[in-house]
Amino acid sequence: APQNYDVVIVGSGGAGLAAAIQACDEGARVVIIEKMPTIGGNTIKASVGMNAAETRYQKLRGIEDSKELFYEETLKGGKFKNNPVLLREFVELAPEAIDWLADHGIELNDITITGGMSIDRTHRPADRSAVGGFLISGLVKNINKRNIEVLLETSVAEILYENGAVAGVKVVDEYNDSRILYAKSVIVATGGFSANREMVVQYRPELDGFVTTNHKGATGSGIAMLQRIGADTVDMGEIQIHPTVEQTTSYLISESIRGGGAILVSQAGQRFFNEMETRDKVSAEIIALPEKSAWIIFDEQVRQNNKAADEYIAKGFVNSAPTVQELAVKLNMDQNALKATLDRYNQFVIKQKDEDFNRTTALRHPLNEGPFYAIRIAPGVHHTMGGVTINPDTAVLDSQKQVINGAWAAGEVVGGIHGANRIGGNAVADIIIFGILAGRNAAAFARR
Ligand code: ADP
Repeated sequence: APQNYDVVIVGSGGAGLAAAIQACDEGARVVIIEKMPTIGGNTIKASVGMNAAETRYQKLRGIEDSKELFYEETLKGGKFKNNPVLLREFVELAPEAIDWLADHGIELNDITITGGMSIDRTHRPADRSAVGGFLISGLVKNINKRNIEVLLETSVAEILYENGAVAGVKVVDEYNDSRILYAKSVIVATGGFSANREMVVQYRPELDGFVTTNHKGATGSGIAMLQRIGADTVDMGEIQIHPTVEQTTSYLISESIRGGGAILVSQAGQRFFNEMETRDKVSAEIIALPEKSAWIIFDEQVRQNNKAADEYIAKGFVNSAPTVQELAVKLNMDQNALKATLDRYNQFVIKQKDEDFNRTTALRHPLNEGPFYAIRIAPGVHHTMGGVTINPDTAVLDSQKQVINGAWAAGEVVGGIHGANRIGGNAVADIIIFGILAGRNAAAFARR
């Protein structure tokens, strides 16, 4: 028998879960379809946090920030390619999204910074752990409390479109059985395509051979499905490589390590760039090194302020030694060079002025407390800024900028918000802000 819903949500990452919760609370009958065996998508791997300006947590800490500055810095980081209307909305709604999470028992009340930002505005859990796992487990609690149906190992193969509107989806389950779910609204929250090597190379041939930080469900299927019903795309060639990826496991080393005070050093034992620049620029500098890789170096104080560091130690990524010189020996690095680099950097911290690379943020404290730590890193494919086009209501648009009735999209599947380079901490903000909006609008549309 055919099944009827108000809203079908495709994908169980942060955008899909937030959308489902909101749509349910608006009175809609919802179902979440997830092709993988587990909930959480790529969101569960998110590390650093969620950016927002003018939040109550910033105010509590006396951090002076403004939406305007957040807008300008995101636009600059995105090389002025961002869709200004969507970016405005993003910046405007970010503090409400932080509150929405808190109201749903997901409090992000510690604050740090990422590359390309001048103010601490990256919100993360109180225990300074990675944001992804914390966020997904909190959202799943809300899904369970509402008894929202989640179909795992079930993929949406097609969005049905009849008489000028979306009519539902065709799903295929793990036994390869297909069936139709009817709904007036379909929210596509399928994430990006970083794990689809063919698609990445199609748009950016030079990225062939790069590892990816993404889970294997990040194949871009939602983009293709929406294109088949007329959706337009934007910025498809804008693919972000993240500068600090452990290469043997493709594991992302969080920007929060640098945000906590770590530096980047070449095999020659030298700093080579402002570590707090945007991801595109830092990645380019690492690729330009003779080894095409570098070391993140930090001390005991940085480790103690960052839970992720302990995770990296447990995973075996981290070299450590009681002194800088002994660390250099372990890294096959010139001892004097590394010592001189740290001494010089520590002077810059004391002066709060980086005379070599003009790093202006996260000059937290001198790196002088042993043990000292190092992780070898190189860039990896991390985020696809391009995707389908939407209007400010999250309605999917065709090439004439007309709404495709009943088709909604939120999260990494959408293009335009981040322009040519996404700022760390803006993906989590994106999925929550636009997930909530999509849930609200899709529910209203289905029940009208
Ligand atoms: P976002 O960060 O935008 O929320 P994520 O990558 O976290 O995106 O989550 C997207 C989810 O969508 C992933 O769990 C992925 O497995 C799922 N997904 C992708 N394509 C399909 C599909 N065709 N059918 C069902 N689920 C899908």
